[in-house]
Amino acid sequence: MEPHLFSDDTSKTIVWRSSFDEPINQIGTPEDAWRVPIDVEQDIVLCPESRRAAGRRRKRRYQTVEDKIRLSQGGQVKKRHMCSRCFKEGHNRATCDMPI
Ligand SMILES: [Zn+2]
Repeated sequence: MEPHLFSDDTSKTIVWRSSFDEPINQIGTPEDAWRVPIDVEQDIVLCPESRRAAGRRRKRRYQTVEDKIRLSQGGQVKKRHMCSRCFKEGHNRATCDMPI
């Protein structure tokens, strides 16, 4: 599969790089000289009202669709581990006693 076929140029590194290539300067006008409309200046902005949900917190993540499909297709598929030192199964690198 060619992932770049499903995205446009904005996600390419070269476009990102060119976007941030020029230095980003501060606003030229000092804060005292800003002309803020009176109705904006007098608006009181408060934090959004938020509350924790009732009950015990979740510790596990939600199952994804892929998880559910995998479960419905007969549980976990066991991946075979092999020793990264001698590439044989049944033990790992830490317990490897193969002479190399
Ligand atoms: Zn081994």
